[in-house]
Amino acid sequence: TAAGKHFTVTLFPGDGIGPEISAAVQTVFAAADVPVSWETHEISVEKVKPGQPLVSRGALDSVLRNGFGLKGPMATPVGKGHKSLNLTLRKELALYANVRPCVSFPGVKTPYDGVDLVTVRENTEGEYSGLEHVVVPGVVESLKVITRTASQRVAEYAFKYASDNKRSRVTAVHKASVMKKSDGLFIEVCREVSELFPHIEYEEMLIDTCASALVMDPSRLDVMVMPNLYGDIVSDLCAGLIGGLGLTPSGNMGASCMLAEAVHGTAPDIAGMNKANPTALLMSSLMMLRHMKLADKADTIERAVHAVLKEGKYRTGDLGGTATTTDYTQAIIDKMSASS
Ligand code: NAD
Repeated sequence: TAAGKHFTVTLFPGDGIGPEISAAVQTVFAAADVPVSWETHEISVEKVKPGQPLVSRGALDSVLRNGFGLKGPMATPVGKGHKSLNLTLRKELALYANVRPCVSFPGVKTPYDGVDLVTVRENTEGEYSGLEHVVVPGVVESLKVITRTASQRVAEYAFKYASDNKRSRVTAVHKASVMKKSDGLFIEVCREVSELFPHIEYEEMLIDTCASALVMDPSRLDVMVMPNLYGDIVSDLCAGLIGGLGLTPSGNMGASCMLAEAVHGTAPDIAGMNKANPTALLMSSLMMLRHMKLADKADTIERAVHAVLKEGKYRTGDLGGTATTTDYTQAIIDKMSASS
């Protein structure tokens, strides 16, 4: 463990409900005596003038220096000439893998109980290389880029994650039946990496077969690794299986840092109303604590979240309750102190 260590985390509270759910995380961390201090940077499309960089060098350097960042949702106005903020962060921080563990919450009723899935998504290339052009009017080409380097990096991460987290199987999800060369390279590399992890079972599955398997029997899968676009879709599908984006944590792994984030948006309809559910951002921050080897702190907080959700007395509106963000946060803190 990292007992005795102290960490500084760069915090991007974000827009809309971002500041409210970020405050909830900070309050819970303080109550749990988590050895983390915060370096807050306001980055927001809403506050930046056109033409200026969305994320300052200082904010990026802060994450790289601290090694850890926590990011609330940020508004991305369509068609205002800004490059997507998430894409900028991904590129500048070399965030090569997006990891989403989707584990059922006790007491949150969904079509399946006991869902326990992890998606590992390649985060830098594939269909999202951003290389599109008009060949002649009415004809557009979009390039899907798959490299050995990026495939290997994400495959190694998936297997290492499986190994570290005592998971039994990694499934490489692909469409190499059609994308013979690109997805073909992706699974070729996954297969090579699998040989370095003989204690982890390895299989390959077509993306369409995987989609059907996930909705028919989610227990069929364990850890999944896949190119960017498939990962974007499958990770949201998995989030839906456990109750939606308001609950699902997400972590982006970089070459020299980790950026934890909520995957839902800024929820403008309830922003500033003390109604937001902070669970997704909190669960993301627990992924970060585990990465810091502060698993005992993460476990304490997670047990309290589960207990509060299971009890069902304090739930935010998205889960059918009437609790405010601050009531729900306080209920988690009360559970922690009751059990210590
Ligand atoms: P959204 O996720 O903000 O909202 C969809 C619905 O879910 C809304 O009804 C909202 O109230 C609810 N919701 C979302 N998170 C919630 C939470 N934590 N607690 C309770 N309810 C919650 O999606 P949207 O409306 O499509 O997008 C709004 C803005 O957010 C847009 O500007 C979009 O670009 C941006 N966005 C940002 C990110 C990100 O930064 N990662 C992701 C998605 C969308």
